[in-house]
Amino acid sequence: MTHNIYFDHNATTIASPNVISGMFNLGVEPLNPSSIHLYGRKARSIIESVRAKVADVLSVPRHFRIIFTGTATEANNIILTSAKRAGMRIFTPKSEHPSVLKADVSRHISVNESGEVLLGEISEEGLYSIMLANNETGVVQAIDEVVEKVKSVNGIIHIDAVQAIGKIKFSCSDIGAHAYTISGHKFGGPQGVACLIYDPDAIAVKPLLFGGGQEKGMRPGTENVRAIYGLGVALEEVQSRVEVMERNILPIRDFLEVELAKDGIIFGKGARHRLPNTTSVSMPGVRSEIQVIHFDSQGIAVSAGAACSAGRVDYPHVHMAMGSNYDDAICAIRISLGIDNTIDEARTFIDHWHKLYNQHKNNS
Ligand code: PLP
Repeated sequence: MTHNIYFDHNATTIASPNVISGMFNLGVEPLNPSSIHLYGRKARSIIESVRAKVADVLSVPRHFRIIFTGTATEANNIILTSAKRAGMRIFTPKSEHPSVLKADVSRHISVNESGEVLLGEISEEGLYSIMLANNETGVVQAIDEVVEKVKSVNGIIHIDAVQAIGKIKFSCSDIGAHAYTISGHKFGGPQGVACLIYDPDAIAVKPLLFGGGQEKGMRPGTENVRAIYGLGVALEEVQSRVEVMERNILPIRDFLEVELAKDGIIFGKGARHRLPNTTSVSMPGVRSEIQVIHFDSQGIAVSAGAACSAGRVDYPHVHMAMGSNYDDAICAIRISLGIDNTIDEARTFIDHWHKLYNQHKNNS
């Protein structure tokens, strides 16, 4: 069935029509940037112009390097593995994405009940990998404080900015970290393209793969030229996305939360900064996968959060890190709005949510 209501934009948002038509218009030309001939030069110029666009749109300091990878998972893996190989200790909050959490972490940093990093636990030298915005709760770190604290202990900081791009204002120069990860499909670009952005003076990045010399040897393998092109088109639209998020989507998110809080528990509401599009809400007594399947049958797509990866429901590590009790945590779903969602869709969802809750309450 097709879904009338898509509320799972943090998983993958709808690709912008300009991205799709732009990629399509590249046609069938054999674009391999390693080739010296005409087509190769065209491919090379596409890649380098998108690299310049990434630098421009995200205000990347001039001496930083930008590497195109297949996914943000890969970019996170590259930076964390490089740090380990360089003998650095790795520190990361307990509420991170698995592509960071599953690295060889020396110590996990706690977060408070709002999901904000406890600065007191940033106390020794090493690489700190800290996400700007949490994929499940939408909690945004007070990043100036975090970066300042990491620098005060002579640490290096990598920021997983995957969920922030296209939702809140973002500038590498303003943040002042040493490395960043972004992912195309989270802000209207295609899947299969992401970037690792880093300061080569701060961290000696080494490739995960061996092979040809693509991406200055940091990411061997033929570049995904069409996807990189699409990421460039999506970047041209991030500013207007952020404006729509602030103007149109934040009020819908707030409305949803007021209505759902009547019977549900909203996570991360006390945080100082949050994404304008994300709500994590627990429906007491109804497990998240039951809800997701139920809403799906009603034509509404939501997710059980990052807890639901690859169709599997895992331990709800984000909510547990925030001090939630297990019973509430396993009943949390993630609603993540996109730029085209409407207040009417929110109303429909709220009706369905309360119906399911009351049905459950009456049966138990
Ligand atoms: N980091 C965060 C915060 C994410 O939300 C995700 C995807 O959900 C990733 C990394 C991984 O992104 P990708 O799908 O590009 O590997």
